[in-house]
Amino acid sequence: MVLAKLENGPLTPISEGTPVPDSPASGARNGQRRPYHFSTQCVTVENPLQKDQYGSSSVPIYQTATFKGMGGEYDYTRSGNPTRSHLEHHIAKISSAAHAFVVSSGMAALDVITRLLKPGDEVVAGDDLYGGTNRLLTYLKNNGGITVHHVDTTDAAAVVPYLRAGKTAMVLLESPTNPLLKVVDIASICASVRQRAPDALVVVDNTMMSPYLQRPLEHGADLVYDSGTKYLSGHHDLMAGVVTCDRDDIAQRIAFTINAVGNALSPFDSFLLLRGIKTMAIRMDRQQSSAMRVATYLDSLGFRTFYPGLPGHPGKEIHERLANGYGAVLSFVTGDKALSERIVGATRLWGISVSFGAVNSLISMPCLMSHASIDAATRAERGLPEDLIRLCVGIEDPADLLEDLEFALLQAGAISRVELPSSERKLMRVRADDGTGLIGMAVEKINLGEQDPEKREWFVSAPGKVILFGEHAVVHGVTAIAAAVNLRCFGLTTPREDGKIGLHLPDLGGYEETWTLDELPWDALQPLSEGESHGPVLDEQLVAAIIGSLKLHCATKTSQAAAVAFLYLYMMMARGDTKPTFTFTARSNMPISAGLGSSAAYSTCISSTLLLLHKRIAIPTAPAPTTEPNGKQPAHVHISHNGRVAIPKPTADEINAWAFISEKVLHGNPSGIDNSVAVYGGALAYTRPGFERKAGLDPLNGFKSVRFLLVDSKVPRDTKRLVAGVGKRKAAEPDVINPILDAIQNISDEARRALEDPDLPRPTLISGLEALIDENHQHLVSLGVSHPVLEIIRAKTASAPYNLHTKLTGAGGGGCAVTLVPDGFSDESIQQLVGELREEGFEVYATTVGGSGLGVFSPRSHEDAEVVSAEGGDEQMRVPLRSQFLDKEPLELAQWVEERGRWLYV
Ligand code: PLP
Repeated sequence: MVLAKLENGPLTPISEGTPVPDSPASGARNGQRRPYHFSTQCVTVENPLQKDQYGSSSVPIYQTATFKGMGGEYDYTRSGNPTRSHLEHHIAKISSAAHAFVVSSGMAALDVITRLLKPGDEVVAGDDLYGGTNRLLTYLKNNGGITVHHVDTTDAAAVVPYLRAGKTAMVLLESPTNPLLKVVDIASICASVRQRAPDALVVVDNTMMSPYLQRPLEHGADLVYDSGTKYLSGHHDLMAGVVTCDRDDIAQRIAFTINAVGNALSPFDSFLLLRGIKTMAIRMDRQQSSAMRVATYLDSLGFRTFYPGLPGHPGKEIHERLANGYGAVLSFVTGDKALSERIVGATRLWGISVSFGAVNSLISMPCLMSHASIDAATRAERGLPEDLIRLCVGIEDPADLLEDLEFALLQAGAISRVELPSSERKLMRVRADDGTGLIGMAVEKINLGEQDPEKREWFVSAPGKVILFGEHAVVHGVTAIAAAVNLRCFGLTTPREDGKIGLHLPDLGGYEETWTLDELPWDALQPLSEGESHGPVLDEQLVAAIIGSLKLHCATKTSQAAAVAFLYLYMMMARGDTKPTFTFTARSNMPISAGLGSSAAYSTCISSTLLLLHKRIAIPTAPAPTTEPNGKQPAHVHISHNGRVAIPKPTADEINAWAFISEKVLHGNPSGIDNSVAVYGGALAYTRPGFERKAGLDPLNGFKSVRFLLVDSKVPRDTKRLVAGVGKRKAAEPDVINPILDAIQNISDEARRALEDPDLPRPTLISGLEALIDENHQHLVSLGVSHPVLEIIRAKTASAPYNLHTKLTGAGGGGCAVTLVPDGFSDESIQQLVGELREEGFEVYATTVGGSGLGVFSPRSHEDAEVVSAEGGDEQMRVPLRSQFLDKEPLELAQWVEERGRWLYV
């Protein structure tokens, strides 16, 4: 094929010599024949430059690496292959493009395109891009000397300030975006680029549309690429990428790169893709019309649904101007990540899978799957909801698809059937505040295949917390607001056969100890009778017996306290002969003893796993392999923070009650707020009993996650002394201190109102919180609980160019400070600030607050182990979860766990 010769000779456009595909019917005006319609073009694969010697009606696969002879059209398949040439010709034809290239994947297509860049170039790209695109751009930014500006390209005017003649080399667009279906005015941006940065290339990722529905070259783009893995192929049986363009000079460079790097599509995959394209139009017609039905259905139930075909979808008119259809991808939010997980897990016909465009319908949660490579903070900044569900509609009968979805929504508790007075039944969406009775049969479903809880590994995790407002004042009856942070404690139990229990705390000075069951001071135990709960008072005799009778080889007071709490709970929960033997290993990626609730997170982990092992609670266990017809295994369960839980509410409450007991062992007199945040997640307002205000713990409904930097001053503090100090001042100077406490109550009330207000615009919320942070910190200074080192952190974060707002959190006098990071704050600036703070000796964590509470992973231990080859032989052996868990650095834990969770889903 002509392109194979590009390195040496001039470029011949791939479509040259191809007669315009036309129908015998004449066009009305000039007597010329009218072109065939798209679907006819798709199915008529002929290339006059490549006639088959036998007249085969399907293009043969030239499965050969080399071609004999010299001076022939083909010599080596990396450079050119007849099957591939046929495909490229066909794609150029259906795309009305002068040139087309096919490579090994969509990402390979973008790789080839970005090789047109050189160090120093600037790229303007969307802020809601496919995760892989984001990853490649970040790589180029970090390693290729390329500056990347992520801009909200749905606002064509927002792109303009970034267009700089001589600097901007590429503008990368996707429309509609995946997965939020945001529409980009490609034509308008192309016009701005021509005007302001004429040398810049406009590149469009057209994967969501395919050449059937949208042809960006016609709107002024220079290069278009598609993941051919999607609609072009249509069957998820190959990976491919397609690049089309009209400009000869660019085509020449693209062809050079493909030949140089050797990522052109193989002959066999070229054949498959060619076959797939023949049915593309008919497939997409069906997929689109079903997608419209599904979107309308979800919208009518009251779910916020993203689909350009829905009335009111932002940019709908622009999309209709640019494209011939709405595509077959849509997404919706449920308001609750755990609920979304249950819906996804409950579908049968919709396969849980990444990708889209295939004949089969797919369902996924982008934040856990296709977009997991974008970190959580960036996802939050770019407005990608964690509870988003993406649906990619296939060609099944739409009635079956709707029925399956409805079944899943019902089963997960997202909708319910309501009996109307007319005795008619109607489906209604269940709102978050509708109560906690809707546990969903998903839970029951994953109980299938349960093994003996004692014989399995249990893996749990719980978050730390920050007090956002109201610390210290809370002791005097003021409401405090605390939120979960995404720094967590992770606990894993591993069964033992040797009659011992073990505790291993690698991140707490490497503490490790085992006890035989007989060693424990059972004589000192006054067992709880059947059905009796622990009650608020610790059994001090048992605590003393544990400390006294066991020779705890604890290196520190903290690890001793951790061991005592663990053993206290173990013994208190034991019933008769149920004394499980196992090792409990806890890891943490949050600083310990820094006021972030690491002990409550630990307490929640021991409480939940001990309750499970003592069979006092039952939580869904992983199903036996492939119990579902489609092999789905919804085995990752989170307690959600808004009350609707995947683990029944009474179970969560029980875990919380025991976590509180553990906190008592650890701290003497805890408020209960830390363990509640660790169990339920989200954010809570807490008011102590014994004052005139209504006491209790209230979840903040609709709390929106906010990014914070947590700066650990590394200055140890004495909470008891600080709390006592404020108490003394209150007693001595009530006229000074009481007004401060009242002012802090106003701050908490105001923060709570703002955080729960669904209609408050995000920028107003953020600037309001900033003002409250400053105000609350000043009051804490007046109470005398700040510390010079905290003021240094405040000054640093407040200085230009950062201008951020910081307050101390927790007891003060050292410990941690929290800095609100507004949505638009760039990654570069965060990195720079983090670097500067670290240079000053502080430990810094970029985190979001308001996320999930206790998570229970119930891995099928024998299968969740990674399979590796035994040394020196072919035999496969399994690495138990525990040794993988121990191998990880604290900061790798979250990612590793996320991967375990995802694995369970697939
Ligand atoms: N662009 C978009 C919009 C995608 O969704 C994908 C894959 O999901 C790609 C590009 C990358 O394509 P591939 O997976 O074929 O490399």
